Amino acid sequence: MTLQLALEEDDLAPVRQAGSDTSIIAPDLSYLRMSIVNVVFYGTPSRGDEWVLIDTGLPTSKNAILEAAEHRFGRNTRPSAIVLTHGHFDHVGALEPLARHWNVPVYAHPLEFPYLNGQSSYPPADAFVGGGAIALISPLFPRSPVDVSPWLKVLPSDQSIPEMPDWRWLHTPGHAPGHISLWRESDRTLIAGDAIITTGQESVYEVITQKPEMHGPPRYLTQDWEAAEQSVAILAALEPELIISGHGRPVRGDNARKRLQELAANFVAIAVPEGGRYALDPAKPGKTGNDAYR
Ligand SMILES: [Zn+2]
Ligand SMILES: [Zn+2]
Repeated sequence: MTLQLALEEDDLAPVRQAGSDTSIIAPDLSYLRMSIVNVVFYGTPSRGDEWVLIDTGLPTSKNAILEAAEHRFGRNTRPSAIVLTHGHFDHVGALEPLARHWNVPVYAHPLEFPYLNGQSSYPPADAFVGGGAIALISPLFPRSPVDVSPWLKVLPSDQSIPEMPDWRWLHTPGHAPGHISLWRESDRTLIAGDAIITTGQESVYEVITQKPEMHGPPRYLTQDWEAAEQSVAILAALEPELIISGHGRPVRGDNARKRLQELAANFVAIAVPEGGRYALDPAKPGKTGNDAYR
């Protein structure tokens, strides 16, 4: 049986609903839920085009993202950059059309480049991680690379993020080799990507209800559980006040922090699928990605 780290409604970060389905979490942070995955907007409406899009949802998400962006930042607005937590299909779905439309830099960790420049597919999803129907159908999810080479830029090695001066990026691999999370020390805000998520992602029921829960990375697409465990330890040690993850609703406060610490302390029992393919034999890509899995 899988242990669960339940969160309460009280642990959810208060959000204000704005137009175009956007939820505003802080004066300069809002997010849009694209059926199964979140995209985050960083920036304030008063500062026009100085905003950043974090992740780009599903292949069908382009228009919804454009609409939400225009609603928040003004007509014909464009961001100063797109930052990717990683290159999985549900985070880069609308990436190519958006990068083309706006013609802006796309920042990612260099270890994620093979999946963003057309070089390599991700290793196959693991259908045997348990938890529900989504895990079972996960091998059908797209895993071939996108190619946004003309816009692709390496995140600076000093952990700064161009266009996000108060933030730094943290390498949080495991779910994907070049996975990053974003951290702002001044108000202890964490944009975790899929390194931790705040709802289960393996069953249809969980995805529809988004029952709040502190959860390790989505199981079926996580390729190196040891690295994932170390990444969760790094995030727990930050003691974040607000956590915005790739899946689930944003959470905040003491209880969320405690659950994150419990997840880090008992990661193998709580997050790692017993007998899962990559739990037994992690996929370790080389510099050119997962050549073996082409
Ligand atoms: Zn992912
Ligand atoms: Zn995801």
